[in-house]
Amino acid sequence: MDFSSLKLFNSLRKDTRRQFAVIGLGRFGRAVCETLHNLGYDVLGTDIDEKRVAQALTVRIASSAIQLDSTEPTALKQAGIFEFDTVIVAIGNYVQESIVTTLNLKEAGVEYVVAKASSEIHVKLLKRVGANFVVFPEYEAGRDLAYRITKPAILDRFELDTEHSIVEVIVPDEFDGKTLEELEIRNRYGLNVLAVGNEQKFIVNPTPTQRLHKGLAMVVIGSNKDIKRLPI
Ligand code: ATP
Repeated sequence: MDFSSLKLFNSLRKDTRRQFAVIGLGRFGRAVCETLHNLGYDVLGTDIDEKRVAQALTVRIASSAIQLDSTEPTALKQAGIFEFDTVIVAIGNYVQESIVTTLNLKEAGVEYVVAKASSEIHVKLLKRVGANFVVFPEYEAGRDLAYRITKPAILDRFELDTEHSIVEVIVPDEFDGKTLEELEIRNRYGLNVLAVGNEQKFIVNPTPTQRLHKGLAMVVIGSNKDIKRLPI
């Protein structure tokens, strides 16, 4: 994940961006539609397949749904898709259609286009044609699973680039009862502690006198090499 994707996530969080269009109503596109819809956002779902459009309306996973071929710029224009500031291209298996759709959206000036890739080369092509953020769910799920089963103490991970991450980890046993000052996490591990807490409440930017306890989680930022050195 790079900084442009961080920027994207921040902008997606802003309340002003409340309208989303999802192109492609396969399993992935439907999950995006349903979640956005349940969160209270206006979502327009589209697919070339009329049955999928009808199904989306029947099960109410989108505010509205229309049938269109997204490789046709005029169809996108007529449906008003270019007016959306965030469009999700959820066409994974049809690489050509996914690339052409993304190109159509970017050429028409859509601000943020999120696209789903189904291979490494598909990721590259989508970035080349201007996708602001590319997801590759099969790769990401596999990578996360590998992290989870090898490092169960890492609760969450946000990759800033290939070398640096922000991770949420369970406080290691040997940190129990010690303050950040005593532990010298910055000097000993090269990591900065951003927050300490549990599901109910996190203390953000903890002071050096903050004491860590077993059962709490801490959020740290640093290089992947240094994160690996934590005694977890
Ligand atoms: P998944 O379930 O993993 O999301 P899938 O196999 O259901 O994938 P894909 O092959 O990735 O679906 O395609 C997603 C959807 O995109 C399908 O419903 C398909 O009909 C739709 N689609 C394909 N081409 C176009 C197009 N040119 N315009 C609009 N929708 C399209």
